[in-house]
Amino acid sequence: MEKIKNNWESIKNKIEQAAFKSGRKASEVTLLAVSKTVDIETVRRAHSLGINDFGENRVNELLSKRESLPGINWHLIGNLQTNKVKDIVGKTTLIHSLDRWRLAQELDKRGLALEQEVPVLIQLNISGEEQKAGFKPAELGEVLAAAEQFKALSIYGLMTMAPLDPDPESARPVFRELFQLRQKFIDRNYKNVNLKYLSMGMSQDYAVAIEEGANLVRLGSALFH
Ligand SMILES: *Cc1c(COP(=O)(O)O)cnc(C)c1O
Repeated sequence: MEKIKNNWESIKNKIEQAAFKSGRKASEVTLLAVSKTVDIETVRRAHSLGINDFGENRVNELLSKRESLPGINWHLIGNLQTNKVKDIVGKTTLIHSLDRWRLAQELDKRGLALEQEVPVLIQLNISGEEQKAGFKPAELGEVLAAAEQFKALSIYGLMTMAPLDPDPESARPVFRELFQLRQKFIDRNYKNVNLKYLSMGMSQDYAVAIEEGANLVRLGSALFH
């Protein structure tokens, strides 16, 4: 457990340096602790160190951990199947993985039925890898404009996954492109859209992501292992 404390200290330093390089303060960057590989005791320990946001990539795992610790912010970061929509709406601070139109419609319908806002990020496939989920960058404008029709769904920003590569520099162009996409649309006042968050960067490349403007970084192994 001391390990988590030590990891958290060095992560905080690294966040501070990277934020400084991008002209920001560390307080403008939120750490999302990806707890998918750890148990609830470990989540509690991380929470006791001051971490309030936790991410899971499976609905069932998120729901069961949330039962034990309902008072913290739970984020869904992984693929969401349409048949799980009914279970997850109302249970998350943010869903990072809105990657198809049909899913947006289902989330909206469910949110409306429960009279609950459904806060989401749009996942973009910047790298264009075939196996990756996400909208194509060229589709973003259309998706944001169409968000006007939603009754419960709200778009709070963009998310991407960089290609897996041991060299964090190889992710930089992907992060830069997501930042530029946000800049392109940030001042259009689409209804139900507020492009506040850029969720990008994982254990391997979060410093580079922050340098390129990330304000939500998703860290698993760097914190817990
Ligand atoms: C697992 C996961 C992470 C965290 O990965 P690490 O390399 O352990 O930091 C971040 N984002 C998503 C979508 C993940 O599935």
